[in-house]
Amino acid sequence: MTEQEVRSLLARLSSLKNRIVFKFMLISTPFLLLISILLLTVTPYWYRQQAIQALDDKARSISLIAAHSLSPAVVFEDRNAIEEVFASLRQSPSVDYVLVFDGQGKEVARYLRNPGLKIYPDHIRKNGLLPSGQHLNQYQPILIEGRPAGYVAVGLSLSELDNQLRHMKQVLWISAAVIFLVGLAIIYFISRLISRPLRHMARTAREIAGGDYSKRAPVAGGDEIGVLAQSFNTMLDVLQSSLQKLGEARETLEIKVEERTRELKEQIDQKEAIAQKLKESEELFRNMVETLGEGVVIVDADENIIFANPAAHLIFNIYGGKLEGRNMREFTDRKQMELIRQQTLRRKQGYRDIYDLELSLPDGNTKTVIVNAAPRFDPNGGYVSTLAVMTEITERKKQELALAEAKQKLEEVVTELEKRNEQNRLLIEMGDHFQIAASDEEAIEVIKKFASKLFPNEGWLLYLRRAGGRFLQLTSFLEPPSEPAEILDIEDCWALRKSVPNFFCDPEKDLLCPHLKSYLPPELPASCFPLSTAGETFGLLVFFCCPEEKSRVKSQDQERRARQKKDLLLSFSQRVAMSLANIQLRQSLKEQSIRDPLTGLYNRRYLEETLERELARARRAGQPVSVIMVDLDRFKRINDSYGHEAGDYLLQMMARTLQRSVRAEDIVCRYGGEEFTIILPGLSLEKAVSRAQLTLDSVRHLELNYGGLIIKNISISAGVASCPEHGLNWPEVIQAADLALLRAKQEGRDRVVMAGKPGNEQGG
Ligand code: GH3
Ligand code: MG
Ligand code: MG
Repeated sequence: MTEQEVRSLLARLSSLKNRIVFKFMLISTPFLLLISILLLTVTPYWYRQQAIQALDDKARSISLIAAHSLSPAVVFEDRNAIEEVFASLRQSPSVDYVLVFDGQGKEVARYLRNPGLKIYPDHIRKNGLLPSGQHLNQYQPILIEGRPAGYVAVGLSLSELDNQLRHMKQVLWISAAVIFLVGLAIIYFISRLISRPLRHMARTAREIAGGDYSKRAPVAGGDEIGVLAQSFNTMLDVLQSSLQKLGEARETLEIKVEERTRELKEQIDQKEAIAQKLKESEELFRNMVETLGEGVVIVDADENIIFANPAAHLIFNIYGGKLEGRNMREFTDRKQMELIRQQTLRRKQGYRDIYDLELSLPDGNTKTVIVNAAPRFDPNGGYVSTLAVMTEITERKKQELALAEAKQKLEEVVTELEKRNEQNRLLIEMGDHFQIAASDEEAIEVIKKFASKLFPNEGWLLYLRRAGGRFLQLTSFLEPPSEPAEILDIEDCWALRKSVPNFFCDPEKDLLCPHLKSYLPPELPASCFPLSTAGETFGLLVFFCCPEEKSRVKSQDQERRARQKKDLLLSFSQRVAMSLANIQLRQSLKEQSIRDPLTGLYNRRYLEETLERELARARRAGQPVSVIMVDLDRFKRINDSYGHEAGDYLLQMMARTLQRSVRAEDIVCRYGGEEFTIILPGLSLEKAVSRAQLTLDSVRHLELNYGGLIIKNISISAGVASCPEHGLNWPEVIQAADLALLRAKQEGRDRVVMAGKPGNEQGG
């Protein structure tokens, strides 16, 4: 609560006191006036009425007495008697007149105390006040024997009463004034009494206003004012505590204000320092912008230039003139202007961008600049303009373009090198595969796989030459244009004839091979590569493409690419030819190493390898493998009788006979000399014995004609053993069969002997 509020509260309390007394007086004054007026009006009226009533009774008594006294005098018209009555009535001071009338109403006599008194007969013939208000009249009949003999009118004067009333009114006026004043005084004192605690409160309030907050109003009692005083004291308690808090708060506030003032002063100092620095920095930046090598341009929302530094003038080739006020449209073509508009939109959205801009200057020059554009906003965040820093990069751009071209070329070269590298890698990989390819079929698979990798977009045909013949067989192909020839005569291909590749790229210049004529579409190129080494032709590769490229006008790149492709095709075909030659060589060497040259049968080495493989396979499959050891009986004699060559011939024929007498999956080997071994995979011992018997039979019937010499009665002996009965590895099984053969020889030859149980020499 502020001091002002306290003062106003005190003023209100003071005026309240005044108003209470005043109101009491004001309220009570009409009552006092009323009481006084009632006293002044009602009391005389009442008193007069009462006095008139008493006078009326008196008048009636006097009139009755007068009527009674006058009755004989009226009857006898005795004037004196009447006068006597009058004389006695005159004794009563209030009787002012007496009038006597006879039976006919005629006035007989009258008495007037005041002779000047006017009497109107009409007025006095009834009872009550006369209209003049001065007399109270009593009209009484004078009865004789119950009948009126005349009438008497007695008038009593009211003047005495009026005098009394006048006096009484004077007294009443004084009384009323006294009552009014005393009443007022009483009311004043009562109201003073009532407002006494208020005065005390007002005094207390004044003392509090004087600064003594410890003062309290006395609490007189439990009435409303007592409650008010109590509330006042409570309010003072609250006020005191509030003032205390206010004081504390003021102290805190003063400290804070002091601190804040100090801070503000520091801030102002800082701001001044900042403003100074800002000024210096603005100066610095202005100088920087003026001397900056980069063009600095500010453009508004409509791309009008509103500021440009000297470097910008140099970029725009504006010498001695002003860039400010000109529009960017004047320095750009439509496309670049559209770019600027899009960039302005982005500035309005608050983005910063760095972009390249092509300037088309009025003097016809074009320049490339890098624009680093940033938006400028007003304090409300509304877009104002764009600040653009321009760096001319025309030369750099040219260099970049040249560099990009060089880079592209380099990349192309690298790509080509990578491609060639990959092609070389594929060629090497293909060579590796060829190295391990055991047959032409495997080699063809390798060719197919690598041809599709190296020439993914080209169709091709592979012809292989039949051994020693002049025809080539179509062995493999990929997406040929239509159905190619299955068989090819060497004479049908220019490449095979010349033993060099033949390219059919330009129908006007190049020769089309006869074998292609029937199906090659007119516009399709083809290249034929003979597959030959050391003058021997193994086959032909036909690619449906042309490394020369059909286009007449060739760029260096195209020529280089064509050359590379040609090299690749040549390398590929050479490797294919080499590999085919190798395979054929390897195959022939292998054949030589495992075949017996005389009979063409597999030799003993092959037998051992094969038997071991077959036994292992049979063990896995749980199948038996049987072996028949065959020996020509008394072959030495044949040699001796017919000569060694005839013996060789017999050995050849024996080989054929043995091969004919077994299944395709059985393997016949020449074990050595005139001994043969037959491996029978999956055949049981018993069945192998039966097969050996059959073989013996077929040999018995052999009759050979060697140069006119008839050789017959040929016989063989055979020993049969099986896996697993006679052993699980080849030496055991062979040994068992060998032993059985030995027994067959011993038992007389031309027979089959089944090997005995292992560890038991006997067989059956
Ligand atoms: P047996 O019934 O006991 O087997 O009598 P054999 O004469 O067949 O047996 P022997 O071991 O006494 O003779 C085998 C002969 O086979 C000796 C050898 O000159 C002959 N021979 C071995 N290899 C060849 C060959 O390649 N050609 C020819 N013509 N004879 C061969
Ligand atoms: Mg023999
Ligand atoms: Mg022998």
